[in-house]
Amino acid sequence: MPSTLPLTQAADFALAIHGGAGTITPGSADEAPYHTALHGALAAGQTILAAGGTALDAVVAAVTALEDAPQFNAGFGAVFTTDATHELDAAVMEGTKLAAGAVAGVQRVRNPVQLARLVMGSGAVILSGAGAERFAREQGIALVEPDYFSTAARREQLAFVRARTQGAVLDHNALSKAIAPLDERSKLGTVGAVARDRHGHLAAAGSTGGMTNKRVGRIGDTAVIGAGVYANDATCAIAATGTGEAFLRACVGHDIHARMLYAGKTLEEACQTVIFEQLPCVDGIGGVVAVDRDGRIQMVFNSSGMYRGWVTSNSPAQTAIYR
Ligand code: ASP
Repeated sequence: MPSTLPLTQAADFALAIHGGAGTITPGSADEAPYHTALHGALAAGQTILAAGGTALDAVVAAVTALEDAPQFNAGFGAVFTTDATHELDAAVMEGTKLAAGAVAGVQRVRNPVQLARLVMGSGAVILSGAGAERFAREQGIALVEPDYFSTAARREQLAFVRARTQGAVLDHNALSKAIAPLDERSKLGTVGAVARDRHGHLAAAGSTGGMTNKRVGRIGDTAVIGAGVYANDATCAIAATGTGEAFLRACVGHDIHARMLYAGKTLEEACQTVIFEQLPCVDGIGGVVAVDRDGRIQMVFNSSGMYRGWVTSNSPAQTAIYR
């Protein structure tokens, strides 16, 4: 287990990322590609932060790298819907002006987090489906054929899920053939990032394909500001992963912020209360990566594992999966 010391220290800049949470059994998958992908995403964000760039640029760069990694359920390698299609959600928020942008249910946008960032400056906060893709074309964002996102592993996952349930299943668990009957609390593969930059500003971003075999048109917490993604320079930045409907109902991101602002809680106290006391009230499983305005990082999850990584101005990049 890596030292937790750097996490409790204030830092000039700080970046924390996740690649999903859940019941992750040691040895059930080749872990090396996950660590490699997480380190790649950390490096993308760290380069920006170390050079004095913005937290917003850093979280978008880190999430873009995770979207391009097939291990995670976002962008390339996203999970399938009931119709064997992909519908992608993403959001970004910055903590200075509380500007935010999100896209929901896009099918042709190679990097949905980059489109979410452009929505942030468009006057809208959330664009969905065909309208979001029209906006992407107007903005010159890279579009791909819908099958760009498909991988053999996800196709196998969909077949496995369909053979066993009519419901939607969270990512990765269907990849683990050890799971029978299916436990939808097994693994969650959404990606996210939070950062504090050298100027004291915060930002958060998230991106997901949602859940395997999800109903067409279903939108999860990752596209909803205040649930899966939230940032406010007065308190913290939050990026969540977990059972999306529960995170929506618990307003996880905003609840952590509100506990700090109104009740004077530390980031650690607020995350612990929300993840271990509030989220279970709505049967929520998963976790958050979070950073406070002084650059202290928290990575809190009520599942047995969460793919995660962190780097600060005081400490080198590290990654972890288990508790
Ligand atoms: N929260 C995501 C969703 O419900 C799933 C995940 O975190 O893997 O769409």
